[in-house]
Amino acid sequence: MKPQVVFVLGGPGAGKGTQCAKIVENYSYTHLSAGDLLREERGREGSKFGQLIDSYIKEGKIVPVEITINLLRQAMEKTMEMDPQKYRFLIDGFPRNQNNLEGWTAEMNDKADVKFVLFFDCSNEVCINRCLERGKSSGRTDDNRESLEKRIQTYLQSTWPIIELYEKQGKVRKVDASHSMDQVFADVRSILDKEG
Ligand code: UDP
Ligand code: MG
Repeated sequence: MKPQVVFVLGGPGAGKGTQCAKIVENYSYTHLSAGDLLREERGREGSKFGQLIDSYIKEGKIVPVEITINLLRQAMEKTMEMDPQKYRFLIDGFPRNQNNLEGWTAEMNDKADVKFVLFFDCSNEVCINRCLERGKSSGRTDDNRESLEKRIQTYLQSTWPIIELYEKQGKVRKVDASHSMDQVFADVRSILDKEG
C-alpha cells in the first residue's frame, strides 16, 4: 500500500500536535511531527546536524529540506516495515516553505499520496499566547517571545503561500483552531469522517 498522507499546517501553537494526538486515538493514523523529528535529531549523539537544527529552531527559521525529508522518509519507512497496515500518516508542521515543498515533490511525489491539508486557522495573538503559556513547562528553546515573533514572521512569509497553493488545488480542509480543544476536535472529526 502506498503511504497516504495528510499534511497538518497552522501557526505555531495552533494546536497541530494536540489535535494529531487526538486523531491518533480515534483513527488509524500515525502522527509524524517534523518539529519533533528535528528535535530528536538535534539530540542524537553523533548527529552532524545538531548545531544547525538548534540554531534554526531558535531563530524560527526553516531547516533545509534535505535534513527534514530524510527524517520523514525514514520514519515512514520504519512505521510501514513494522506494520504494513500503518500506511496512513499525519505529517505535522510540514511543508512549511517552498524549499520544503520542492524537497517533498522531488523525493516523495511518486512514493506517497497527499490526500489533503488539514489547516488549523488561528490568529497570531492566540498562537503567541498559547506558546507563551506552553513555554512555562515545555522546555522548548523557541517558546519565548523573541523566537515566537520570528516564528510568526516565518509562518506568514513562508508557510502561508504554501497553504494558498494547496487551497487553489482544492486540497485545504480548514478548521477554526481558536476554540476549545474538544470543539476543534469535533470539527476535525467531521472532516475526517467525510474524507474516509
Ligand atoms: N522546523 C523546520 N522544518 C519543519 C518543521 C519544523 O525547520 O519541517 C523547525 C522550525 O524552526 C520551527 C521549529 O522546528 O519553527 C518548531 O516546529 P514545530 O512544528 O515543532 O512547532 P509548532 O508549530 O508545533 O509550534
Ligand atoms: Mg507542534
